[in-house]
Amino acid sequence: MTDTTAGPPASPAAPHADLSAPPADVNAPHPDRTEPHDDRLAGRLNWLRAAVLGANDGIVSVGGLVVGVAGATAARGTLLTAGVAGLVSGAVSMALGEYVSVSSQRDTERAALEMERRELAETPEEELDELTAIYLGRGLSPRTARTVAEELTARDALAAHADAELGIRLDDLTRPGQAAVASAASFTVGALLPVLAVVLPPPAVRVPATFVAVLIALALTGATGARLGRARVSTAVARVVIGGAIGLAVTYAIGRLVGTATG
Ligand SMILES: [Zn+2]
Repeated sequence: MTDTTAGPPASPAAPHADLSAPPADVNAPHPDRTEPHDDRLAGRLNWLRAAVLGANDGIVSVGGLVVGVAGATAARGTLLTAGVAGLVSGAVSMALGEYVSVSSQRDTERAALEMERRELAETPEEELDELTAIYLGRGLSPRTARTVAEELTARDALAAHADAELGIRLDDLTRPGQAAVASAASFTVGALLPVLAVVLPPPAVRVPATFVAVLIALALTGATGARLGRARVSTAVARVVIGGAIGLAVTYAIGRLVGTATG
């Protein structure tokens, strides 16, 4: 027993390290910036990205809404009502959408886990072979793969299969309620900006002030999103600012048209 545990990690690991040549090569991609190594960090980055996207949605959709209404009316009360209604309905729709999509994802995860649990109870030998095959496929030697599979199975077979086969962590199942609240909250934060920008300044500069505030905010969320996704910041910012400017201009023009036609 001591032989098998001490043996495999020592012997296959050493020749591998030698074969894959300079250890510097192995280390090279690692220290570079903030590579999300462990799943926790990756999870946190996903959350952050979702929050940035939610805020972005709030800025764009409520920004367009208040600018469109401002094209038709100068009444501050109407602008405030429209902005708040847009904020609330947008937040509710984000929450519902997120809840539904995350719930169905969780149902899928649960069904897969249930099936895995049944297979482990009914055909444990096949499941052990399956796990061994997965680690073989990931590049371990047959002996090491077998040892890894056996040790993981002995510790927590379901967790081992969930992780290796399904990519699910048992202690980290998706939570629909949390996701719903988070996306509604980030939308609300984003939406507050155009509402304040259209309501606070004097009527003459209302629309330009909202344009500027919205475009600056979009540049910030665009830059943050690009950072998190490790994309080129300047390209992302240009895309989101130009897209936002066109969107605002179009809704403002349509608001003006409708305002003139109806009133
Ligand atoms: Zn399995």
